[in-house]
Amino acid sequence: MIIDLRSDTVTKPSKDMLQAMMQAKVGDDVFREDETVNELEKRIATMFGKPSALFFPSGTMANQTALKLHTNPGDQVICDKYAHIYNYESGGASFNSGISCKLIDGNQGMFTAEQVLEAINPDAYYYSPTRLVEIENTANRGGGSCWNFDEILKIRKVCDEHQLGYHLDGARLWNALVEKNESAKQYGDVFDTISICLSKGLGCPVGSVLVGDEAIMKNALRIRKVFGGNMRQAGFLAAAGLYALDHNINRLAEDHKKAKEIGETLSKLSIIKTVEPIETNIVIFKLNKDVNEKDFIQKLTDKKIHIISMGTNKLRMVTHLDYTDAMHEKLIHTLQIL
Ligand SMILES: *Cc1c(COP(=O)(O)O)cnc(C)c1O
Repeated sequence: MIIDLRSDTVTKPSKDMLQAMMQAKVGDDVFREDETVNELEKRIATMFGKPSALFFPSGTMANQTALKLHTNPGDQVICDKYAHIYNYESGGASFNSGISCKLIDGNQGMFTAEQVLEAINPDAYYYSPTRLVEIENTANRGGGSCWNFDEILKIRKVCDEHQLGYHLDGARLWNALVEKNESAKQYGDVFDTISICLSKGLGCPVGSVLVGDEAIMKNALRIRKVFGGNMRQAGFLAAAGLYALDHNINRLAEDHKKAKEIGETLSKLSIIKTVEPIETNIVIFKLNKDVNEKDFIQKLTDKKIHIISMGTNKLRMVTHLDYTDAMHEKLIHTLQIL
């Protein structure tokens, strides 16, 4: 039994999901004739109460497209220092859109409306024009933390007052919706654009969707093509997404429960210094100074348990669809006797 907790992206499509994929009705999506892609886009647009949605091969491309739609070269986007768009998209913000990031020193990947206000550049020609605020829910490097919705609304107000776009990187928004008992619609009402991933907790092999208002999304098709993200019979992939929306959202609560139990176990171990607060499916912890990180990871690897280092002395475990009850039992037991 191999226990892979490096990420919730390691899941493989289940038999039933594969069945749904094989039975998909497909067409050439470049001609917009793939009915399964069209159905998925329509379904997600409706969930968020937005007029427009577009299927993407990756969350990175969906985010990068959003950045491009909101900005011109030389502009600036406000985001957290932990933001995926800043840390894990290969410098795409500057490469693709020629923009810079104004980083906020937030708390667990989240910040306040006041901090946004302070980060907006004054209106003078020698500043980079601030155009966009980007937040991440749940915040990945923040340990899967969930935003307080009131703060999200306060930031919307700041965006309105300063004519800024507002983008949500919702790669793991599903986890936040389940944990906080929130709806997609309430997020759709607030943000101009939202990217969501089907390939994280929802267990699809591929796929992300960008939703947004008509005016901003009218160029999304072109930008996706410029980025090389046009696909042909992509309905086979979209079918996995439709299946996941029907079957894999509510069960995320199980991943959260397991992550919290892992956190409780870790916090009782003398070799662990701290465990960050756990709200969803991500567990981030630090080892005591006298424990060698590489040795610790190797010790687990020897027992067929895989986790990753996040640098700066932090380690990460992520629970997911393919992390079974039996694996959970074995992991908890293994940690207790480390
Ligand atoms: C995974 C992830 C993405 C997108 O990643 P891809 O691997 O390109 O699909 C975007 N934002 C966050 C916060 C993520 O965790």
